Amino acid sequence: MRLLVTGGAGYIGSIVAQRLVARGDDVTVLDSLDRGHRDAVPEGADFVQADLLDLDAVRAALASGFDGVLHFAALALVEESVAHPERYYRGNVVATLNLLDAMREAGIGRIVFSSTCATYGEPETVPISEDEPATPVNSYGNSKLAVDRMLADEARAHGLAAVSLRYFNVAGANEPLGEDHEPETHLIPLILQAAAGTREHISIFGTDYPTPDGSAVRDYIHVDDLARAHLLALEKAEPGRHDIYNLGSGTGYSVREVIDAVRRVTGRDFQVREQERRPGDPPRLVAANAKARAGLEWTPERSLDDMIADAWAWRQAHPQGYSA
Ligand code: UDP
Repeated sequence: MRLLVTGGAGYIGSIVAQRLVARGDDVTVLDSLDRGHRDAVPEGADFVQADLLDLDAVRAALASGFDGVLHFAALALVEESVAHPERYYRGNVVATLNLLDAMREAGIGRIVFSSTCATYGEPETVPISEDEPATPVNSYGNSKLAVDRMLADEARAHGLAAVSLRYFNVAGANEPLGEDHEPETHLIPLILQAAAGTREHISIFGTDYPTPDGSAVRDYIHVDDLARAHLLALEKAEPGRHDIYNLGSGTGYSVREVIDAVRRVTGRDFQVREQERRPGDPPRLVAANAKARAGLEWTPERSLDDMIADAWAWRQAHPQGYSA
């Protein structure tokens, strides 16, 4: 297939693009390189540097025709979204509207979109199914939910084949590609920095949650398992339908359990500090993944230890990330 991957110079987009290239697809990565890395664009993929807010550039990139689009390009920092909501409505909603306009004009009728469990806000029922009410608690979640709804409307009105994949906590690496964010805010890369000695300590944000050990519980999913789901979603997308799937392992781990797993996998010790809760962090987010298992015929295969081992190996091989 001829496929466009927006945000294909970012963490998840690059790893999906790499898989598509490996199976023989003709892949073009479109990325502004605002937060992505040129070195993350997988070998064998074409590259167009463009911002989705530049509609003319997007039209030009899509004009040659594609069988489908995998849309990863987005802003994804919760705190930033609370401080600067306009950035998130522009960067996630307006940018996607441009992409959909250009797709319609070019006759491209298939899209797989990176949505998020942040669309569920503070869910009433955990494990979280796709039927959980969508009530985001920050502008990041609101902007992603707005795109999910745009896709549903476009599917109804114009016959678009659309799938939204709602990611839980993605981790791991797939050499030579890995996770390199600036600033880094995610738990596993931060603990690995502490294990490597480039960070003085790791903080546990909140030790008084109503969870077995008092720290917050999340559902971690290996980026390889996540990537595989995108290939399946691309196949299963049907014209005139918008389907939503939660992508998580279905198992929750507390912050303390993740810290213990890093100690076990890396054999390194490091300082741990207990801090206040981070505002807006729900106690427990775990996916119900029955719909993805049935609808996508997808099964997550990699464990938390695999994610940590792969992320650790990537860090060891690329101590400065992509900037080296
Ligand atoms: N967390 C933590 N210390 C950190 C970073 C994160 O205790 O330095 C916690 C955070 O409060 C949450 C979990 O780890 O409960 C996962 O956070 P992350 O930012 O990786 O992902 P999120 O679940 O917020 O999308």
